[in-house]
Amino acid sequence: MMPVVALVGRPNVGKSTLFNRLTRTRDALVADFPGLTRDRKYGRSKVGEHEFIVVDTGGIDGTEEGIETKMAEQSLAAIDEADVVLFLVDARAGLTVADEAIAQHLRSNEKPVFLVANKTDGIDADSACGEFYALGLGEIHQIAAAQNRGISALIYRALEPFVEQFADQHAGSDEAEEDEALFEAVDAQEEQTFTEEDAEAQAKRLQDQPIKLAIVGRPNVGKSTLTNRILGEERVVVYDMPGTTRDSVFIPMERDGRDYVLIDTAGVRRRGKVHETVEKFSVIKTLKAIEEANVVLLTIDAREGISDQDLSLLGFVLNAGRALVLAVNKWDGLSNDVKEEIKRELDRRLGFIDFARVHFISALHGTGVGHLFESVQEAYASATQRHSTSLLTKVMKMAVDDHQPPMSHGRRIKLKYAHPGGYNPPIVVVHGNQVKNLPDSYKRYLMNYYRKSLKIMGSPIRIQFQEGE
Ligand code: GDP
Ligand code: GDP
Repeated sequence: MMPVVALVGRPNVGKSTLFNRLTRTRDALVADFPGLTRDRKYGRSKVGEHEFIVVDTGGIDGTEEGIETKMAEQSLAAIDEADVVLFLVDARAGLTVADEAIAQHLRSNEKPVFLVANKTDGIDADSACGEFYALGLGEIHQIAAAQNRGISALIYRALEPFVEQFADQHAGSDEAEEDEALFEAVDAQEEQTFTEEDAEAQAKRLQDQPIKLAIVGRPNVGKSTLTNRILGEERVVVYDMPGTTRDSVFIPMERDGRDYVLIDTAGVRRRGKVHETVEKFSVIKTLKAIEEANVVLLTIDAREGISDQDLSLLGFVLNAGRALVLAVNKWDGLSNDVKEEIKRELDRRLGFIDFARVHFISALHGTGVGHLFESVQEAYASATQRHSTSLLTKVMKMAVDDHQPPMSHGRRIKLKYAHPGGYNPPIVVVHGNQVKNLPDSYKRYLMNYYRKSLKIMGSPIRIQFQEGE
């Protein structure tokens, strides 16, 4: 499972600056979908090859009396669920009472904590940081989030236990220069693609594997009811997969001759057995499940409408590039007028994800549940279907014939050829001249052209541009 890094600290130490640094490129992707509210608290990031989830816990103001009680409940939950905590302090402001209160809380928690002194730019950092040793959290990691300094070294250190290769990759690279270079990888994360051969191998692997299907959604939308419905009551207790309460349960199953692994974020299986308590909804668990899945079944409550939390989950699915099927649940017992109204609302608010199939179901009565799997299969097939370089180039040429790219600096932007760069999501790498100057409108045109020509349904598609051969 993908590691979760929580950013903790009093207000104004630079948490959101660091968060933005780590997640910037991904945010740009979300901006491609107007209508999506972006959640400033949860993001995806990548250093080198290694992805992780970043959580900005928001300002914890330890100066209020009793940090235990005053700490926002969500921030506490985020610390509990994180794999690593980055505790930020402000090197310019020096040690404060709030820092001490937070440190005290963190020391009583078993989480690995990295003490991070931010804003070390333009000051004598070593002497400014000395006083933070009093926090009793060991080594002080100096960064300047606003200047992009020290960040990748820090992340590599923090994630070392989760990724063995980290140690080797980062051995002996404490030079500031090299650090900049590593951090470039974070900024350029979306540019990393496979070669044609590697993409081919990836597609083969994906087609031989069980489809990992995550059922996600807000609390009470009907995830447990749907999961039970899908599994059939007796299957629910058959498998015994290990897992902690923090994580989703993986349930292997078969349907229409196809193997699946259901990622159960609602804790259905667990609830039925040892742990009787109804599980609390957890955003982080949901995000991890999305990362882990090939296809996400996002469940929405017809009676509640689309909420910001639905949109935020949707944004995360799109950013992760996962295939997507939407289930509008509790469709039973609604009048036709109400149904029409709900459909209009869906069109209005979710019009921008026109590639996903929408199913109106009743998990309670089982209506429409069987058909969900047709769309799940279709989405997975679209996400993993192989495309040859010649086909992708041909489609590109057709698109250019129908609608030429514009001029830039007096010369026409030229697209030369395209090759596959990965699957789930499908990535098309387009080579050409002056591709940096392609307007977004043309990029979107090309994306839609590929989507239609390749008949990709239920999966996002990505186009990346490379200058030259
Ligand atoms: P948060 O409340 O912890 O999320 O803090 P912000 O990220 O909003 O940052 C608070 C202020 O500190 C802003 O004015 C930032 O521009 C500034 N800041 C953040 N990182 C740095 C840094 O590395 N160096 C300097 N000099 N200022 C920084
Ligand atoms: P979860 O928190 O997403 O796992 O939601 P649950 O499966 O626990 O369902 C929440 C509530 O909604 C329960 O009272 C269910 O009986 C009810 N519910 C779930 N699916 C349906 C449905 O299709 N129709 C109706 N009317 N109620 C449903």
